[in-house]
Amino acid sequence: MVDRFVFDRYSGSEAPTYVPDSGVPDVSLTDIFPRKLLRETLPLPDPGERETVRHFSALAANNFSVDGNFYPLGSCTMKHNPRLHEQAAALEGLRDLHPYQPEDSVQGALGLLYELERCLCAITGMDYFSLIPSSGAHGEFTGMMMIRKYHEQRGVKKTHVLVPDSAHGTNPASAAMCGYATVVVPSNSGGCVDARAFSRALNEQTAAVMLTNPNTLGIFEEEISELKRMAHEKGALLYYDGANFNALAGIGAPRAMGFDVMHLNLHKTFSTPHGCGGPGAGVVGVTERLRAYLPVPRIERRDGRYSWSQGSPETIGTIRSFYGNFLVCVRAYAYVLRLGGAGLRRMSEHAVLNANYVQRMLKEVLDVPYDRACMHEAVFSCASLAGRGVRAYDVAKRLIDYGIHPPTMYFPLIVKEALMVEPTETESKETLDRFIEAVRAICREAREEPDRLLRAPLSRPGGRVDEARAARALEVKWNPAAGR
Ligand SMILES: *Cc1c(COP(=O)(O)O)cnc(C)c1O
Repeated sequence: MVDRFVFDRYSGSEAPTYVPDSGVPDVSLTDIFPRKLLRETLPLPDPGERETVRHFSALAANNFSVDGNFYPLGSCTMKHNPRLHEQAAALEGLRDLHPYQPEDSVQGALGLLYELERCLCAITGMDYFSLIPSSGAHGEFTGMMMIRKYHEQRGVKKTHVLVPDSAHGTNPASAAMCGYATVVVPSNSGGCVDARAFSRALNEQTAAVMLTNPNTLGIFEEEISELKRMAHEKGALLYYDGANFNALAGIGAPRAMGFDVMHLNLHKTFSTPHGCGGPGAGVVGVTERLRAYLPVPRIERRDGRYSWSQGSPETIGTIRSFYGNFLVCVRAYAYVLRLGGAGLRRMSEHAVLNANYVQRMLKEVLDVPYDRACMHEAVFSCASLAGRGVRAYDVAKRLIDYGIHPPTMYFPLIVKEALMVEPTETESKETLDRFIEAVRAICREAREEPDRLLRAPLSRPGGRVDEARAARALEVKWNPAAGR
């Protein structure tokens, strides 16, 4: 149908003979889409190149990006990604490789992947990494598949996975995709996993425990050693969600906390620009006991020569085409080599310092539901503004008028009217102060002039968009006059 449409438009109504007859009746596009949505009916102008470039440059300037704006989106690590790593990824010898090239012609690239795996093992304490998964969620899925195979091979029946109520949504999703039920463990008043509830939820049928540490409240799980002991005692494995690793890199190792499987998001912590869906790399690390289940192919080094191997017979198999997102790995390798161990540690220290600075400075205007030192992100509650009809959503939208990207909202789910701020290590004190001033001004406005706030953003071309409608109806009507 679609092919036919293309040929009709570009090659006349005769379909080229090399397209076999599908045997399916032709359907006109106008029968599928409402006529008014088809491009042909748009009265498009026909400007010259100069006008076109200016038009699109002006549109692009309306985008929020890390390059243009402070972007404190919690749990996303929207930090500055040094341009040097982009240059590394743009090197012809790396960029122009083809996955079908003979191994002898890509020894450098294989060596890079091999070395990156060794670096990630050194950073996390794990024994092996697979660089193949393309996202954090994909890494979790891969890790859970390995856990499932591990239990199956040992002939023990496991039915469920424990997940704290503060967990990222991908955790229960990954467990469910691997056929496990999820059991939610509540957090205690300190924002950590409630050890007593944890112990009650745990039994011989627990396949794994998925933990994020520091958790999504930005708090370090102090009882991790005890949780680990309890889980291992029941034959459950510990999965570590290391998507945001900029609180711990160079400081603490998930292996030392007792984790058996983990993932890192190279596209968050290790310097690949992200957002809008990729490409990314949710690399998965395991300890020796899960080695046999690693996805394939694996890189081997023998007599100084690298090659792809089909791994062990117990592998979970292939999880995507080829070898993962190679250029994301190139950036991560450049990043790790450039910073070194001491630099990684400094990176994490700055991330933690910045988050704590913001948390302390905003404490008097917003509630801090778990009032203690945080790690790389700070979670606030806007519940105290509710009396004036103002919600976290309104505060977030108003920040756009200050040239600041909204923080993550309504996550973690256990905090009412949550705003989750992750300043990242690459922001200066001046930027943080500007953010703090903006939030304070907005909180003043919430008390004195809440109505304005409820219409924010007031300075952008689109005004406040009806997001529910935008997600459900194909056609979004802009109202340029809104809020101006
Ligand atoms: C981002 C994130 C994920 C998922 O990573 P994707 O690459 O978006 O799939 C999982 N867990 C946490 C804590 C995250 O912040």
